[in-house]
Amino acid sequence: MNVLDFVPMDTNTVPVIVKQPTLVSRKDCINLSTKISVGARDYQISHIVKGVENISSEIDSFFPISLYAAMKENLPLKIEGVLSRRLAENHKIIQLIVNSWWPTYRLIPVDYWALSKKPITENVKRSVGCFFTGGIDSFYSFLKRNSEINRIIICYGLDIRLDNHALREKVSTELKKIANHYNKSIIEVETDVRNFSDDYGDWGHQMHGPALAGIAMLLSKELHKVYIASSNPFGLLEPWGTHPLIDPFWSTDAIEIVHDGCEATRVQKAQFVSQDLFALNAIRVCHENRSNLYNCGICEKCVRSMVNLAITNTLQQCQAFDNPLEYWRIRRIKLDTSLRREWLTNLVAAKKANCDPALVDAIEDCVSGIYYMGIKGWPKRALNLLHKMTLASKTAHS
Ligand SMILES: [Zn+2]
Repeated sequence: MNVLDFVPMDTNTVPVIVKQPTLVSRKDCINLSTKISVGARDYQISHIVKGVENISSEIDSFFPISLYAAMKENLPLKIEGVLSRRLAENHKIIQLIVNSWWPTYRLIPVDYWALSKKPITENVKRSVGCFFTGGIDSFYSFLKRNSEINRIIICYGLDIRLDNHALREKVSTELKKIANHYNKSIIEVETDVRNFSDDYGDWGHQMHGPALAGIAMLLSKELHKVYIASSNPFGLLEPWGTHPLIDPFWSTDAIEIVHDGCEATRVQKAQFVSQDLFALNAIRVCHENRSNLYNCGICEKCVRSMVNLAITNTLQQCQAFDNPLEYWRIRRIKLDTSLRREWLTNLVAAKKANCDPALVDAIEDCVSGIYYMGIKGWPKRALNLLHKMTLASKTAHS
C-alpha cells in the first residue's frame, strides 16, 4: 500500500452525490445547473454564462467544490457522470496537499460512472482567458500576457454578492470599459456557488480556488487555457485557495489552468501595472464594498494597495480611490501572520525606495502593531500624537 492508496470507507457511508448537470440555452445566456447532496442537505447550484456560444455540460465543473466538501465532511464522493481522465488521475495529489495544509479536510475515495474518452481536438478554434477583477494581481497577469489573452472572465456572486445590484452594475460598467480599452471580449459568469461553498470552508483560504477552477472548466468549449492570477509571491507562499501547487492539477483534457504571477511581489506588480496610466486609474481592489464605493480607500486592502502605489511613487497619479491615503489608517491596521509578512515586504520596499519617512514610520508602526500592544505601545502612540499636533499647529500658523 502506498500513500496514494487511500483507506477505503465503509460501503454503507452515504456519499456526497453530484448529479449530472442540466444545460439550458437562452437568448443571451447559457445556464448550467446541478444538484449536490451532502448528507441530508441538497444544494442546487447554477452558473449563468454570457458572452459565449457554447459551454461545457460536463460534470467536471462541479467536481472541485464537491471534492472539498466531501473532504471536509469526511464522506466519499460519488460523481454521477463522466469525469475527466486527468481529474481522476490528479485528485489524490490535490487531496494530499489540501490534507497536509488543513488536516480537517480528510482523504476520501471518489467514484464516477466513467472516464472521459474524447478530449477536444486542437482543430477546434479556442482562445485564452483570464479571471479578471480589476485588482493589482489580475491586472498584472493580464497586462503581462496581453498579447496572448483575448478574453477576460468576470464573475458575479464571488466577491460581490448577487443581490448587491447597485455595486454589481457599477463594477460591471467599469470592467467592460477596461475590456473595451484593451480590445478584449468579455465572458460574464453569474454563480450562486457560494451558497454551497461557504458551508465547507473559508472563501479565501480554501474555497475560491476550487470555485474558479470549476468555472474555468465550464468554459472549455471556447477556451483552451485560463490564467488565475497569484495572490502571493514565491517568497510568501502559504496554504491558500488558489496556489501554484494545486491549480495546475485542476487542468483537464479540455483546458489548461495556470497559476500566474508568483515571480513578483505586490509592490513589483503595482510598479508594472502603474506604467499603464489607463490601468492605474481603473484598478479595483476593494473587497469590503463599503457604501458601494468602487475603492473605499479605507479598508485594509485599499490602504495596502495605495501603499504599494505610494512606494512606487505613482499613487498621486491614481484617481481610482474614493478617499486619499491617510497614514493613521496604516498604523491602525490589525495584522494576522500572513498579512504581517506582506506588510514587512512593504516596509523593506519603502525603505529601499527612500519613501517619505512619515510613510515608512507608519508602516513600521503597522508591522510592530503599536495600537494593539496595550500599555507597551503607549510611548510611541503618545509620540505620534505629539507629532500630529505639532504638524497641525504649523499648518494653522502658515
Ligand atoms: Zn476598500
